Amino acid sequence: MKPSSFLYRAPATLGRALDDLAECAEEGGKVLAGGQSLLPMLNYRLVRPPVLVDLGNITELAEQTITGRGFRLGAMTTTGRLARAPEVRAAWPLLATAASWVGHVQIRSRGTIGGSVAHADPSAEMAATMLLADARITLKSTRGERVEQAGDFFLGYLSTTVEDDEILTHLDFEVPNAGGRWGFEEFAPRHGDFAEAGAALTLPADGSEEHGRAVSFGVADRPFRLPSLETLLTASTGRLSRGVFNGAVGNDFDAVGTVTAEKRDMGAHLVERALRAAGVAVD
Ligand SMILES: Cc1cc2nc3c(=O)[nH]c(=O)nc-3n(C[C@H](O)[C@H](O)[C@H](O)COP(=O)(O)OP(=O)(O)OC[C@H]3O[C@@H](n4cnc5c(N)ncnc54)[C@H](O)[C@@H]3O)c2cc1C
Repeated sequence: MKPSSFLYRAPATLGRALDDLAECAEEGGKVLAGGQSLLPMLNYRLVRPPVLVDLGNITELAEQTITGRGFRLGAMTTTGRLARAPEVRAAWPLLATAASWVGHVQIRSRGTIGGSVAHADPSAEMAATMLLADARITLKSTRGERVEQAGDFFLGYLSTTVEDDEILTHLDFEVPNAGGRWGFEEFAPRHGDFAEAGAALTLPADGSEEHGRAVSFGVADRPFRLPSLETLLTASTGRLSRGVFNGAVGNDFDAVGTVTAEKRDMGAHLVERALRAAGVAVD
């Protein structure tokens, strides 16, 4: 199918884009980023926005700053850049690895981190990774600016707190458990498909008093943290008994509520694989 007709705007500045979006938001106007989710939805007429505001010409939205363990990623940063850039891999290898799992190279060359996070597919690697880092997500509109923590941002299947007239401009975070062990695992039936389930986790660096972080994705209607498991992950964790692991992950999956038995098994298996990749045996 072909999309229904729409007006196309391609502003050169963020201010102009916010004005354009404010004008058409009530009638269902939408922001276009990499188009890798929106264009298929337009072609299938799942959405029929009267106006598209393309963010592709706004250079400030495509910028990245990495200082030590601190990241600021403009919303138009492509997942291809995150997968390839040596400075990203050096500062946070988990993020580069997660980005390399997003679709195929063609998808990654256009798809953006802002689009992925705003679209909020429950299997999206970037949404899961931003939740792991508890990123601060900046949203702007002609009404002003607000910052949302990733933990409060994802509301459900393809649902977030972004208002119709808001543009996600950038994401800020510190690398969680910098210098510590980590694991990222997912299962997809074919290379490039969306994950059926996945897990990302970090352990504190040696000498740190922090706890680890862990996220499951593709399992429920949104990615979610695993707080019971996290309390078990310290710098020296090298082994978890099967009973302790099952109890903690079971608690965390119960708290989400919408997990089928099949997804639960797959999700728990991927958490275990991610732990193994991080040097933690479950036996
Ligand atoms: C074959 C195929 C395989 C794929 N595999 C995967 C995969 O394995 N993992 C994965 O995570 N994704 C996958 N994707 C989706 C891809 O990652 C998309 O690029 C991503 O979901 C959306 O990013 P985008 O920049 O293309 O956004 P768009 O498609 O342009 O926009 C998506 C939605 O977000 C909104 N939006 C975009 N940017 C902003 C912003 N800055 N502020 C406010 N709203 C915004 C749009 O209005 C739209 O509603 C796949 C896509 C295809 C076609």
